[in-house]
Amino acid sequence: MRIGTGTVYLVGAGPGAPDLITVRGMKLLLRADVIVYDRLVSRELLQQCSQQSELIHVGKTPGKPSISQEEIHRLLIDRALQGKNVVRLKGGDPFVFGRGGEEQEACRKAGIQCLVVPGVSSALAAPASVGIPVTYREKSRHFVVVTAHSNGVGDALDYQVLASIDTIVILMGRSQLTGTCTALISAGKNPETPAACVEWATTQQQKVVVGPLHSIAELADQNQLRAPMVTVIGEVAGMATASGSVENEYCQLVNRISCEFPSWLS
Ligand code: SAH
Repeated sequence: MRIGTGTVYLVGAGPGAPDLITVRGMKLLLRADVIVYDRLVSRELLQQCSQQSELIHVGKTPGKPSISQEEIHRLLIDRALQGKNVVRLKGGDPFVFGRGGEEQEACRKAGIQCLVVPGVSSALAAPASVGIPVTYREKSRHFVVVTAHSNGVGDALDYQVLASIDTIVILMGRSQLTGTCTALISAGKNPETPAACVEWATTQQQKVVVGPLHSIAELADQNQLRAPMVTVIGEVAGMATASGSVENEYCQLVNRISCEFPSWLS
């Protein structure tokens, strides 16, 4: 480790609601010299940061030119070499489909200290926010988190294996949802298996649809659910609180909870 260099903190911002960041993550955020953040990080959270912090947006918007992963690595390393404390703020958990592993590796190679602060992943928060327990005695002894987004050859999902898992949680799967459901049914998953899609989980824009596997993609289309969206497939999805509705009790409840940060945090 070089003397006089700063540290890069890979911090999970949580799934969307600003108060779902961890206390440790918030403390680091309030003390950061530089905050390098993603598209899905909540604006309200960033508004809590110090005016002195340099805020750098490096979010990748689908279909638009954006900063490359290598440039992000360079940015983190450069700022740390300037002696700054850098918070790399990522939606959910930094190591769940967030390329956090690559950023950690790049920092290590450059001799920069890199510390990870886990976050509440949407993989768990999206089901939880609509009352779906990912495990449940006898209904779900295992769950798997996958992305339907393939990165090329050799990346295809093994649907036979997937179909045998009690609960399947899919991230980055909106555009392929119809194909994913068809493939699961062809691989032997019961078409009547309950499924749920949750868009913008834990935020005020949260939407949910619930239905059988064979028609969940159609329901998501009809109700205009878009990314960011998590799909849950398994018996437990039938426990969702807001069957077929785009409104839900959770949103109403969240509206009643103050998002102000307690003073002991600063
Ligand atoms: N590291 C993140 C995931 C990044 S990949 C995490 O742990 O949550 C981005 C995908 O996460 C989105 O395409 C979507 O599938 C999911 N996602 C993130 N935030 C979400 C939210 N608030 N509601 C629903 N899905 C979300």
